[in-house]
Amino acid sequence: MQLNFIGNASQVSSSGLTIPMLDPSDGEVFDQIQRSNAKDIDDAVRAARQCFDTGWSKTPAAERGRLLMRLSARVAQGVDELYALEQRDCGKPTRQARADAVALARYFEFYAGACDKLHGDTIPYLDGYSVLTWREPHGVTGHVIPWNYPMQIFGRSIGGALAAGNACVVKPAEDACLSLIRVAQMAAEVGFPAGAINIVTGYGHEVGDALARHPGIDHISFTGSPSVGTLIQQVAAQRHCPVTLELGGKSPQIVFADADLDAALPAIVNAIVQNAGQTCSAGSRLLVDQAIYEPLLERLGAMFEKLRAGPASMDLDLGPLIRQSQQQRVWDFLSDAQADNISMVAQGSVVDVAPETGFYQAPTLLRDVPVEHRLAQQEIFGPVLCAMAFRDEDHAVALANATQFGLVAGVWTADGARQFRMARRLRSGQVFINNYGAGGGVELPFGGVKSSGYGREKGFEALQGFTTLKTVAIKHG
Ligand code: NAD
Repeated sequence: MQLNFIGNASQVSSSGLTIPMLDPSDGEVFDQIQRSNAKDIDDAVRAARQCFDTGWSKTPAAERGRLLMRLSARVAQGVDELYALEQRDCGKPTRQARADAVALARYFEFYAGACDKLHGDTIPYLDGYSVLTWREPHGVTGHVIPWNYPMQIFGRSIGGALAAGNACVVKPAEDACLSLIRVAQMAAEVGFPAGAINIVTGYGHEVGDALARHPGIDHISFTGSPSVGTLIQQVAAQRHCPVTLELGGKSPQIVFADADLDAALPAIVNAIVQNAGQTCSAGSRLLVDQAIYEPLLERLGAMFEKLRAGPASMDLDLGPLIRQSQQQRVWDFLSDAQADNISMVAQGSVVDVAPETGFYQAPTLLRDVPVEHRLAQQEIFGPVLCAMAFRDEDHAVALANATQFGLVAGVWTADGARQFRMARRLRSGQVFINNYGAGGGVELPFGGVKSSGYGREKGFEALQGFTTLKTVAIKHG
């Protein structure tokens, strides 16, 4: 049984209720978490506020950096324990779960080094004045984390918030949160003060909503679906609480006829099968120059047919989806494809030994998907790649920009001038040229435009969002 972690102590919820945790690889219950309520959130916010007021806000930036560095080292030491927790919770193949634990250590390392590099400016102004700016923490920050990359999103969100001097209240996803509870315990072990990192588990409409509404929360960082992002904004707007939103995407991979396909094709496959396609930045639309559309689909189809899904511990190309409702969501999209005569180019397989009670989906490549079809417009959040052909550069840009989202775009071309033109014309928070994701470096600011959200996490840029700027003007004659 997992408990909340509030004020550096494990606590049961005042509700007395729990939520079963399912292993997506076999659908079996393997643990319980607290089904917390508004009272638990209030306890956590009080603990965070007390931490902030009584010491954390006065802790020198260099000391915050040392603590984050110690936490990074502790996470690195505990990588095997942490990835095993997250693997069971999320159904991630071993290499992917391990990479997420390593990335978490790297987030804390990066933000450890950033703490004492964040500073304001002095501004030349009228004679007789001195004007300067201070970057101050918001105070208590709220973090609503999704189930697809718990450790990575936790690391980038609280790493930046703690570096900037905030105390954090975290609401992990009800489907996957065990690794985060363990990391909070590790933070206490290495010396983080009580209340700096608080974890309260439970359902979004109960405890997530209570967090968003709590008047003691000074900033909210949310990663998840556009519909819940809207709810959080509406609730936060009642008290003018700033919000950072990362709401996913329908990201295009755009392949021109001069592209190096030996480099592009493995990256295109990886971008849709990583975490079984349950990735905000999944490259879920494939836009191909009509001159190479048929031969490219033939090569890609052969690659898809070799892909295998199976239990997380088998460490195959992909594991199961997170839960039955997510599996049903993908099935619904695929039955729409069938009903609308959208052709399947190829499909991978689910291994025979995969339990029938697990939430598996074979990776699927579809072709000639009409741009207005919901398969080409909505996040499927599964291993389904939708291909379509374009005539020329203008057509490629029009198709790429023709969704409500704008998170990531991948462009594959050898033409240098076209690389810059495309990067300028794509409405997207990130554009990757001749790569996809740049290895996910923690240094790179990340976020979206349009319905993909606003504000940036990762990199130094995130520290701007986790602080507020105070301008001080002194008249001294
Ligand atoms: P979700 O948005 O419901 O869940 C994300 C987080 O928000 C979870 O911690 C959840 O408990 C919390 N939440 C839910 N309702 C809330 C509320 N009213 N107030 C505050 N917090 C609340 O996402 P989901 O239902 O788990 O997945 C549905 C779809 O969302 C997916 O199919 C996918 O398209 C998208 N999604 C995107 C991302 C991403 O990385 N951008 C992550 C997860 C899901």
